[in-house]
Amino acid sequence: MSLLVIGTVAFDAIETPFGKTDKIVGGAATYIGLSASYFTDSINLVSVVGADFPADAIDMLHQHKINTDGLEIKQDGKTFFWSGKYHNDMNSRDTIDTQLNVLLDFDPKVPEQHSNPDFLMLGNLMPSLQRKVIEQLPKRPKLIVMDTMNFWMDIAMEELLQTIAMVDVLTINDAEARQLSGEYSLVKAAAKILMMGPKYLIIKKGEHGALLFNNKSVFFAPALPLEDVFDPTGAGDTFAGGFIGYLAKSKDISFDSMKRAIIFGSAMASFCVEKFGTENLLHLEQSAIDARVQEFIDLVQFDISLV
Ligand code: AMP
Repeated sequence: MSLLVIGTVAFDAIETPFGKTDKIVGGAATYIGLSASYFTDSINLVSVVGADFPADAIDMLHQHKINTDGLEIKQDGKTFFWSGKYHNDMNSRDTIDTQLNVLLDFDPKVPEQHSNPDFLMLGNLMPSLQRKVIEQLPKRPKLIVMDTMNFWMDIAMEELLQTIAMVDVLTINDAEARQLSGEYSLVKAAAKILMMGPKYLIIKKGEHGALLFNNKSVFFAPALPLEDVFDPTGAGDTFAGGFIGYLAKSKDISFDSMKRAIIFGSAMASFCVEKFGTENLLHLEQSAIDARVQEFIDLVQFDISLV
């Protein structure tokens, strides 16, 4: 099953209570692609970088079997830059700077040979560009998953709503669900958001796990209590990459399969936050992923017999 991923490929500067980095490679599509690469080797990326983007970072994507035919390199442009600072709770952060750079006039083009994906992951990007990618595909993929963030709710709500109406699964965090719906209760928020078009909604709650809603059911997955959390950057994207990667591998998009996909996504995110940037996603062993998933199973298993 092929997976088409769009989203930012970026430079990030991150500050957490445990340290600080200067310009490291990040971006939504980078985290999604790396995470999904542990589930499928048919990943095609559509994004844009500037001439300042290092060739060895593109090699790193290739080592993970991520095809970059659709990665435009703008010789006269600078790569998208984001910088953020985490609060002591490590769950909330302030965006210090967002420099759109090459994104400002990005016109995404899906290479013809990749225009028939089975799965489409719309990583965080201008919603108008996410929509443009859907519109370029001659046939609707089996499943379209979309991630977004408060930044786009603040400056492009109208376009965001248009794109949300076209997808099957929306993933956002709890604060974003409240902002998008105007409801404090996440149950009410989910009901309103599901009326906007998607059939499924995933609400990510950082260290408190994730909720999956459709109009009939709700499922809750915890996050693993971890000894060390160094940098939550990319956790949401890594989660999304694991989620859609697992679905692509299993070829099953039922609610039950999505429940399992959420556990795999959460396991991948748990690796991401243990080190800075993408570091911990570069060389994972399948046995380590399996062991993490087992920890999730053990965490929530209990015997109750109701008489
Ligand atoms: P996450 O921690 O999962 O929200 O994702 C962090 C990644 O999103 C970083 O690597 C950033 O480069 C990227 N990012 C930050 N702001 C934006 C934005 N407005 N649009 C797209 N990507 C962004």
